[in-house]
Amino acid sequence: MTATVAIMGRPNVGKSTLFNRLVGRKIALVDDQPGVTRDRREGEARLGDLRFRVFDTAGLDDIKGDSLEARMSAQAETAVDDSDVVLFVYDARAGVTPTDREFAGRVRRRGKPVILVANKAEGRGHEGALLEAFELGFGEPLAISAEHGEGLDQLYDAILPYT
Ligand code: GDP
Ligand code: MG
Repeated sequence: MTATVAIMGRPNVGKSTLFNRLVGRKIALVDDQPGVTRDRREGEARLGDLRFRVFDTAGLDDIKGDSLEARMSAQAETAVDDSDVVLFVYDARAGVTPTDREFAGRVRRRGKPVILVANKAEGRGHEGALLEAFELGFGEPLAISAEHGEGLDQLYDAILPYT
């Protein structure tokens, strides 16, 4: 059985960058059938010797001028429901924002295990943003840089139990 991982979080925290990092060039676009309105992306992730399915909830970012409620749209919640574990991503440089808290609350209510990911944490000096993230209730954040490929060993250890 292959584990399925959903990447969640507010727009611009680096979800798609992480998705692309995990999937590399082997992107499987499964939702390009005409008439299918779901626009989450799905791919086969490779992380060391781990293989798992991953969802990028990209559609959230593309809905403009809408309420947060609307943006946490059915497709994203379905991605969470269809996953074994959620990677909840926030921006370690921006710190925890009210929108992060809103998204976190909605993810929490789905009842799935969550791995908290502090992205954009390349280099040093993000300790404050790591500490404040405990308030999200998902435990200790893993500091990574999706763009620079840092911290992926921690991500490996966190995902391993679900595979
Ligand atoms: P999404 O909206 O959550 O899917 O975020 P994107 O993956 O589209 O990234 C949003 C912005 O953050 C882009 O400009 C990325 O280049 C940038 N970004 C993503 N990951 C990192 C990272 O690890 N470090 C830094 N500094 N920027 C990043
Ligand atoms: Mg995106």
